[in-house]
Amino acid sequence: MPGFVLSRAGRGLRSLGRALSGRWNLSRPAIEAAAKGPDGPARRPVFGQQFEGVRKVAAGLDEFSLIARLFAPLAARHPGALGLTDDAALLDGPTGRQWVVTADAVVAGVHFLPDDPPDLIARKLVRVNLSDLAAKGAEPFAVLLAACFPVGATGDWVERFAGGLKADCDEFGIALIGGDTVATPGPLTLALTALGQVAAGHAILRSKARPGDDIWVSGSIGDGAFGLLVATGRAAGLEAPDAAQLLDRYRLPRPRLALGRRLVGLVHAGMDISDGLVGDLGHICTASGVGAVIEAEWLPLSPAARTAVDAGLGQGLETVLTGGDDYELLFTAPASSRPPLVALADELGLPLTRVGRIIDGQGVSVIGAAGLPIVLEHAGYRHFTG
Ligand SMILES: [Mg+2]
Repeated sequence: MPGFVLSRAGRGLRSLGRALSGRWNLSRPAIEAAAKGPDGPARRPVFGQQFEGVRKVAAGLDEFSLIARLFAPLAARHPGALGLTDDAALLDGPTGRQWVVTADAVVAGVHFLPDDPPDLIARKLVRVNLSDLAAKGAEPFAVLLAACFPVGATGDWVERFAGGLKADCDEFGIALIGGDTVATPGPLTLALTALGQVAAGHAILRSKARPGDDIWVSGSIGDGAFGLLVATGRAAGLEAPDAAQLLDRYRLPRPRLALGRRLVGLVHAGMDISDGLVGDLGHICTASGVGAVIEAEWLPLSPAARTAVDAGLGQGLETVLTGGDDYELLFTAPASSRPPLVALADELGLPLTRVGRIIDGQGVSVIGAAGLPIVLEHAGYRHFTG
């Protein structure tokens, strides 16, 4: 069977040792930009001071021991990772299967808070990527990590981060097969590439929704957005158990992998909800050339989210409709799939709820109580537009 080469895979993780031992691999423009500062005239780079934090990370570690100790064990699940000791990983392509490949980046201050626990940051990074595989109906296989650690990161922080990564590699049966690690004067920035497999031609796409389809969501909607309010101290008045549950949903998404695999053949179109129900459904509508109507009264809210809506947290129901970070699956299916979907929800112990229908036309409308339309200020989170 033919293999293929994932370039840079092994080389990058070996560069972790170089970066953390004080021999960084930042580009020259990045170093100069850091030396210049936000406004002032360019200062002569003083590398010794600038990368003091990098050397701190390396305290007590030789050039390769950090990779060998923290990251190579995560590669053991797949021999093609070559123990993270080579320049690339080697993967055979099985007959009749397709690789499903996705990448997501997260940045401190944008996707998580800089003082979030490092193990949970790692696990959320893994899970938001696996959620994209779940949306395709794919089986996860392996991940590659590109990590830009701030120069002030400590060895303890990196260990805890690696511990979270290991926990999720174990939980989801995936291997870390390569990546890249550098030091940065900017915020902690992490990118993960995830590989999965699906039977050839059977991946669930956004572009196959048809007028008359039911719109379904898994689990409950809005918890992630309210969890962010909890994390940022904007949820005063919530009882502690509700606040803790919402915070957990924000910090530790549950990628719906088992559900995604079972949806193959039952649904027409699907995706995961990362940026908000209305905005993400809009992507399905655009890709499929259809419109959609959401019945707000049908939305599945957890008891904690219901409490948050009733307490008027955030923008109440609008937060549920447009807030991100739920990582539930959103899919459209013909009416004939209702019985098997109800049975599947029972079998998996995961609620599946009809929340609207696909129509001829374009765009997403939301109908509220008494059949009146709800007008939303923003459909969902968008990078670059705020
Ligand atoms: Mg997605």
